[in-house]
Amino acid sequence: MIKSYDFVPFLKCKVYHESGNLEGRIPIKVKVLTPIHIFSGHFRVQDNGKIYREFIKINGRPVIPGTSFKGCVRAIAESLSYSCLQNSSRDGRMPENKWHGGQQKCIICDMFGSMGNKSKVQFNDLMAVNYKTEVRGIPRSFRPHPESNYYMENGKYKGYKFYKHGINGIQPSGPILCEFVNAGSEFEGEVIYRGLTDEQVRLLCFALGLSGDIQPKIGYGKPYFYGSIEINSQPEWADKAREYVNECDDEVKKNISALIRILNYSNALKSYEG
Ligand SMILES: [Zn+2]
Repeated sequence: MIKSYDFVPFLKCKVYHESGNLEGRIPIKVKVLTPIHIFSGHFRVQDNGKIYREFIKINGRPVIPGTSFKGCVRAIAESLSYSCLQNSSRDGRMPENKWHGGQQKCIICDMFGSMGNKSKVQFNDLMAVNYKTEVRGIPRSFRPHPESNYYMENGKYKGYKFYKHGINGIQPSGPILCEFVNAGSEFEGEVIYRGLTDEQVRLLCFALGLSGDIQPKIGYGKPYFYGSIEINSQPEWADKAREYVNECDDEVKKNISALIRILNYSNALKSYEG
């Protein structure tokens, strides 16, 4: 059996001393590559009497909530920077060089917020603009609560875990019925930032996938190749994303390459036997 995930090794945590004053608004277009499901918290009943998990909606229209979107982008940004792990001090399985103490901030805490420290990036809900939904069953072994975001080796966490892509059509089916937004559907919205440094804007744009190098995954069923999305914006933001790659040091570059191997959709698996 092929592993459906791989990892990006931890970089050590560094305190971030810069303070920025850049503001901006990044228009976001999402194209769904493999069906996505984000649970509304409500169960619905089909005409045939079967119960399914509803996709989250506002006024009847599917949305990718800003909180889900932020979590997805933050995890990517963490893996590509000298970020902390908030819980590293309390868990012996975490490396010790991944925490800056409560009084300090790393580049990620400064951007996305931490305890007592407001986020400088605002992720608004992404609204479906052109979409089809479908109720489909996914395997029972999928977990309602996502498993650890970290990759473990010999009892120690080694890095961030990311699930690989699989082309649309190879997703295994099963008895757990969920409402999916189908491949080909589109969502739109925006990300707003205030008080970032240029380095942080570049990191944000790269983590959003605006250079085209990475396509994130969102929602449930990631181990089964659901939830692949492509994110686009205007060319100026794609340029900012590329600048992150050009300006970063060799250690970060290595992680960028590792993440591209996992999250570039052109590397999507063509078949899967679970
Ligand atoms: Zn931090």
